[in-house]
Amino acid sequence: MTFTYRDDLHKRYHSWNYELRHEFGEKIFKVPIDGGFDCPNRDGTAAKGGCTFCSVSGSGDMIIAPTDPLPQQFHKEVQQLHHKWESTKKYIVYFQNFTNTHAPVEVLRQRYEQVVNLPGVVGLSIGTRPDCLPPETIAYLAELNQRLYLWVELGLQTTFESTSNAINRAHDYQTYLDAVERLRKHNIRVCTHLINGLPGETIPMMLENVRRTIVDSDIQGIKLHLLHLMKKTRMVKDYREGRLKFLTRDEYVQLIVDQLEMIPPEIIIHRLTGDAPFDALIGPAWSLKKWEVLNAIDDELAHRDTYQGAKDVRKGVPAFYVR
Ligand code: SF4
Repeated sequence: MTFTYRDDLHKRYHSWNYELRHEFGEKIFKVPIDGGFDCPNRDGTAAKGGCTFCSVSGSGDMIIAPTDPLPQQFHKEVQQLHHKWESTKKYIVYFQNFTNTHAPVEVLRQRYEQVVNLPGVVGLSIGTRPDCLPPETIAYLAELNQRLYLWVELGLQTTFESTSNAINRAHDYQTYLDAVERLRKHNIRVCTHLINGLPGETIPMMLENVRRTIVDSDIQGIKLHLLHLMKKTRMVKDYREGRLKFLTRDEYVQLIVDQLEMIPPEIIIHRLTGDAPFDALIGPAWSLKKWEVLNAIDDELAHRDTYQGAKDVRKGVPAFYVR
């Protein structure tokens, strides 16, 4: 089998870096910032307490200066990134933590517009929840989509209502499906976030999460996260009481390769692991060695001589992993 979406013969999946190099012809930085939003799952609009895995920073633990004005946050992140890649000149600003469409559209406009015209900014990526996209917000996103390279990143995490209730997501799968449909009417690129390793989910359920997401929704990108158990989160109780068991590194690598085989080759893989700060992480400890995990995934793909899309579920194989 030949695999089109790669420059490097070792890569057997359609990586985010590959996509950006081909879209823009050069390396692009994704610059995470904290837009100063809250979350409807924490402030009582949808529920209180938040998702049980969510840290105090709203899943934005790696942002350098989250309370600074937005342009300043951007400059600090870029400065840091330039230590490693000095010559990079183009950026996608990533509104990462909490729910970045949880405000009236005038507020969104006021915050997003502070960064879209900064030198070198070519795109925006907006992290949000599927229940936070009213028509006027979608209309503004559609306008932005005409002006720059836009992604909307939708947290879904699981397609199983039982898991969703157990982790207090406070929205259902249908709300996610409706949100994707409404975004796609304006050709807005959608990247869906799933978490592998949630309490009570088996490997077949995790495979089924990917199958449903790919078959049921017209998405252009996917982020597959490993569950990081962070200190001071509600999920610590699940761990202490035995409802949460960490995946081993080998289980995770095998699972990711199985999931990649299911995903059509044109879908962009934004992530296959996650970053967690060392001092806040309870486990799994092996996840701190991110590059070793990514290399093990490359090795397993090569060992099996397989690729992303080798068992493309949009082509109908297999029907279900679990119901
Ligand atoms: S929706 Fe996002 S920000 Fe809100 S509680 Fe869940 S993970 Fe945290």
